[in-house]
Amino acid sequence: MTKAAGAYAGLTVEEARAKVLTDLQAQGVVEKVEAIQHKTPLCERSRTPVEFLSSEAWYLKQLEFREPLRKIAGEMTFHPPRHRQLLLDWIDSLTIDWPVSRNRYYHTEIPLWYCGKCGLALVPKPGKYYRPWKDPAPFEECPNCAATEFVGEDRVFDTWMDSSCSNLWVTRYRIDEAFFEENFPAHLRPQGREIVRTWLYYTTLKSYLTQGKKPFHHVFIHGLGLDARGRAMHRTTENYVPADPLIEAHGADAIRYFGASETGPGDDFRISEDKIGGARKFLTKLWNVARFISAFPPIPAGKLKASDEWILAELNALVSECRGAYEEHNAYIPSNRCREFLWNRFAPHYVEMVKARAYEGDDGAVYTLHAVLQDLLRLLAPIVPFCTDKIWREMYGGSVHGELLPSIRAGVREELTALTPEIEAFNSMVWQAKKDRAIPLGQPIDGISVPESLKRFADDLTRMHRLA
Ligand SMILES: [Zn+2]
Repeated sequence: MTKAAGAYAGLTVEEARAKVLTDLQAQGVVEKVEAIQHKTPLCERSRTPVEFLSSEAWYLKQLEFREPLRKIAGEMTFHPPRHRQLLLDWIDSLTIDWPVSRNRYYHTEIPLWYCGKCGLALVPKPGKYYRPWKDPAPFEECPNCAATEFVGEDRVFDTWMDSSCSNLWVTRYRIDEAFFEENFPAHLRPQGREIVRTWLYYTTLKSYLTQGKKPFHHVFIHGLGLDARGRAMHRTTENYVPADPLIEAHGADAIRYFGASETGPGDDFRISEDKIGGARKFLTKLWNVARFISAFPPIPAGKLKASDEWILAELNALVSECRGAYEEHNAYIPSNRCREFLWNRFAPHYVEMVKARAYEGDDGAVYTLHAVLQDLLRLLAPIVPFCTDKIWREMYGGSVHGELLPSIRAGVREELTALTPEIEAFNSMVWQAKKDRAIPLGQPIDGISVPESLKRFADDLTRMHRLA
């Protein structure tokens, strides 16, 4: 309570309330005491009533820079583009400058001293970390009044004063000028959409104030992981899904794969342990396919047959689509397309078609099996870094993370992909026929022949299904 509270000055609000009641009762003017309900703003974290205390603070100017900041927002490439609006809306909603001083412990100290006599604020030389509440003042005398006593600042900076330096830090601002010149603005800021108004905005403000430039070329804004009912997770609502048990049960790669494959860039998604389990099944499939292929030593090149050329044409299409998506910082397309390719095409169709040849050491089949696996590992490495690297190290030596993304193979007959629906329909038809006639998949079946349109695959298809 301030002076304005008269007799109650100096008390806390709680104390003043109690004393007001006692005083009123002492005067005999209290008719009754009853519980009522009224609206009180509560702290989001502690759930205690919010109390407004006026105090002096340092502010960083921002209102007067709204126009150049809007312009800079327009100069950065957003992924997805629609999330630029989050930044623009925040810039438009600013009504005060940025209060940057905080009264708390354990943060970056504000490097200021004040003259003990006239109160002038003094800034020490840059290049050193100062703790004004503890360190001796680095000044001889006050330039204003020549006093020699100084009082160190005991407040700290707002968190985002530090965080807004991250792009300056990684580009070695004031540490390595040549490196900084070459690398500022930084290439990419990846972050969640809930901190656009803080991390991205303040980084933009600070880069504008110190460099007059945009902070990044690209900004990648990802969505939030929500709970099963679609609510944002908070400690206070106790709907937080801890990561450790999920990692323990399914592995970190399964969680990464789930996050990449669940929604398009920038969209929120609901955390689902079922789907994380599904991601693990896909990774187990990748592992098992790799283990099968590891039975055949890799060879540099082989004489290709039609089936090999067909799957390499499909692989080219996959590589092309995934590379295009990665250019857009999109992991949703590569994760899903690689799964579809491995699970629905490569493993059930191609691998089965060439199994017999591979066991005979046919160089076309062995070459193609390894070529496809290597490209799949390279495509998936950014999303599932651990299992792809483990497989790569075991089978090929070195790290998959030292590899480039795969390129389109030249000389592949792209038109063969037109036959894919027919190949897959034929295989499905034979599998169904065996099922209907209770013939195990590995046993011969008669009465089925390879259609004319698939004649070039006839050898492989005949051996795959043991067509009699
Ligand atoms: Zn002074």
